[in-house]
Amino acid sequence: MHKIVEKKQLADTITLLKVEAPMVVREAKPGQFVIVRLDEFGERIPLTICDADRARGVLTLIIQQLGRSTKDLCALKAGDQIRDILGPLGNPTEIEKFGTVVIIGGGVGAAELYTAAKALKEKGNKVITIIGARNKSLIILEDEFKPIADEVLITTDDGSYGIKGFVTDALKKVISEQKVDRIICCGPIPMMKAVTTTAKPHNIPAIVSLNAILLDATGMCGSCRCTIEGKTKFSCVDGPEFDGYKVDFDELMARNKRFLDEERRALEV
Ligand SMILES: Cc1cc2nc3c(=O)[nH]c(=O)nc-3n(C[C@H](O)[C@H](O)[C@H](O)COP(=O)(O)OP(=O)(O)OC[C@H]3O[C@@H](n4cnc5c(N)ncnc54)[C@H](O)[C@@H]3O)c2cc1C
Repeated sequence: MHKIVEKKQLADTITLLKVEAPMVVREAKPGQFVIVRLDEFGERIPLTICDADRARGVLTLIIQQLGRSTKDLCALKAGDQIRDILGPLGNPTEIEKFGTVVIIGGGVGAAELYTAAKALKEKGNKVITIIGARNKSLIILEDEFKPIADEVLITTDDGSYGIKGFVTDALKKVISEQKVDRIICCGPIPMMKAVTTTAKPHNIPAIVSLNAILLDATGMCGSCRCTIEGKTKFSCVDGPEFDGYKVDFDELMARNKRFLDEERRALEV
């Protein structure tokens, strides 16, 4: 059992939970994730390790309410318990001295890149962060990124805050002004596809963190199958990060829609 020690509402549908999980925290590296199960009958929910406080053994999770399981998870309060937290899982983010790295988070994707941004800055990179969301109320972690990034750019689709437009508009501006050595991005699949398309003419390596539907996270169930450069890979054990130029995004989008009816029904119960 894992006790929730802190809960913070970051936006209407986005919740931060700090949870006791000392064994997970001890091994956690940037880019890795956990599988959370609320109770004995709970669905397995993959969530990124947003931060890991080794001294306190406390894990930070940021959860966007999408369907039944994330709604139940976000309804928990400080003092409540989570049945299982399995991890750390997945391959860590490559942390090297690349030069200038642009970190791009769409919506809750920003949470998934926070520890990587910290580690890349510590390695001596210039870190530029672009955080994008539909509107101002959905922008998260701006204050947390500011002390670690050299520059933080905000975009909103409706122009209610920061630059009006998509993260790719901000990316184009950055690329036109300076040399970029690497892009790391996490967010909705169409966004990651657009970032990759923007980076390609400039030949900038673009790493994407895929949110394929994951179940067992051992490479056995095949749920998170994706096609990378024509080869079958499993996001849970081969990823979740991949070279964006090699990902078949259209196939992934189609596969991620395959439980829509079941998800709708689960919300009605
Ligand atoms: C490696 C990884 C890390 C993730 N990290 C985070 C995170 O830090 N914060 C966060 O809010 N979300 C994260 N997600 C997405 C999160 O797991 C899903 O939003 C969640 O499982 C939705 O469950 P639900 O029952 O509430 O919604 P549902 O109604 O079941 O699903 C809503 C949508 O969420 C996606 N989804 C559903 N189940 C899964 C699943 N098992 N795996 C992946 N996607 C799923 C589908 O696109 C689906 O259409 C991550 C996913 C992956 C694969």
